Amino acid sequence: MKHRNKQISLKGYLTCIFLVFAVVLIAFMWIFQTVLLEPFYKTIKTYQVKNCAHSVAEHIQDDDLLAILDEIVEQNNMNVSLYDTSTEIFSCIYASDSINHRPSNIIKLSTVYKYYDEAKLNGGEATFGAQNTPPHSLPKHYSDIPMFDREHTEFLSFAKIIETKDSEYFVIVESEITPVTSTVQTLKVQLSIITVLIILISLFIALVSAHYISKPIRKTTDKAKELAKQNYDIEFHGGRYKELCELNNTLTYSATELKKVDSLQKELIANISHDLRTPLTMITGYSEVMRDIPGENTPENIQIVIDEANRLSQLVSDLLDISKLEAGSVTMENKVFNLTSCIKDIFKRYTKLVEQENYNIVFEYDTDVYICADELRISQVMYNLINNAVNYCGDDKMVVVRQSINDTKVYIEVIDHGNGIDSDKLPYIWDRYYKVDKEHKQAVVGTGLGLSIVKNILNQYNARYGVKTKEGQGSDFWWTFDIVQNPDKTKEES
Ligand code: ADP
Repeated sequence: MKHRNKQISLKGYLTCIFLVFAVVLIAFMWIFQTVLLEPFYKTIKTYQVKNCAHSVAEHIQDDDLLAILDEIVEQNNMNVSLYDTSTEIFSCIYASDSINHRPSNIIKLSTVYKYYDEAKLNGGEATFGAQNTPPHSLPKHYSDIPMFDREHTEFLSFAKIIETKDSEYFVIVESEITPVTSTVQTLKVQLSIITVLIILISLFIALVSAHYISKPIRKTTDKAKELAKQNYDIEFHGGRYKELCELNNTLTYSATELKKVDSLQKELIANISHDLRTPLTMITGYSEVMRDIPGENTPENIQIVIDEANRLSQLVSDLLDISKLEAGSVTMENKVFNLTSCIKDIFKRYTKLVEQENYNIVFEYDTDVYICADELRISQVMYNLINNAVNYCGDDKMVVVRQSINDTKVYIEVIDHGNGIDSDKLPYIWDRYYKVDKEHKQAVVGTGLGLSIVKNILNQYNARYGVKTKEGQGSDFWWTFDIVQNPDKTKEES
């Protein structure tokens, strides 16, 4: 009970998962939108100014260079200044202010030289980070226009020396950097609202999905509790998803199987108590007669007592055998033995029946056959099959046991001419405790265990077995087994 209290419910479990997911999601959003926003922005800007400078370099020898430069400036919204460095004092070929209305043309020549030297040292290219005070100051007439407040604008510059066959050029691309601080502030407010919303939505989804998933499970659990109370008629229906459907189907199957086992067990108890009571009544009855009435102590009466005691012990050993075989705790003592003489030995047990009750039990065989198995168990198989044939044989009281050889296998048949078995009952006769003729069970000897023992023993050897039967014409129970070809040699080896 203590342990159960510690277990977390599906609702709690899903809520935890959704909350963890939401927290991770929110954390990522916060990191990317606040801490990493500025570095990302600057990296992208740097990439753009470099790209722009490379485009200028690509078109440097084009005839319509100035028009192309105008296009580049317009498309990228950047300042571009191009200088011819072949003269001692650099001459400005192009400045982008005409397009962008930006005062890039006023980069101080001293700054241009400084950039050039830096680029030269750097292998032809140099990036100059965002700076609050640009290396050049705004001439007086620009200060009237507020948007050109260059003093407070951050710029990212990229300088590149472009060499052609006969001359050298120097391009400076500048991009304005918008301060992200105010954006970050706005984002923080937005993110706070989003955080609350995401957590609330996660909680809602967790609760709804937990309800959706757990409701049918609870239904199944309630029904399973009913099943535990031995209500085997309960049916586990449907389910909203595949896994639950499978569970329900399995539980319905288990319920039917449990019902079968339950009714078979009840039947067995009824059978066994009857079967135990009959010989016990006989034993007690005959013993009392022999004790009380002088002269009744005859060998015939004593034989009846012995026979009934034998029947009792057979029943008990059958029960023991089946439970051991089904539990797999029987070890087969395999050795090569003569199957033909084993069958002949079983026949000896029926001599009295043949002589006194006119039964006709025949064994048809050509030659002696040897197999490697547990002789005791195989004789049990034969005894159970012959016993059944005797019990269920027809009015002709005839039972034929036939041994034939088919290549490497011996084929044993036990044939009677009784009522046969209904085809719809056939699949069940090998089940334990199964009796076809339930109403007449008292008349016919048997516990319903014989064929189940046969099945279990033959299954241990992976041997094939079966029955051919026609209603009203009798049954032919058969099984096959590998023949040992050189029994003497095999015996020596083993
Ligand atoms: P039982 O002890 O009742 O004979 P078995 O397991 O040996 O139990 O047989 C199961 C059922 O199969 C029997 O109750 C009987 O109805 C049917 N059966 C077995 N052998 C024969 C047979 N040779 N002819 C007709 N029915 C048979």
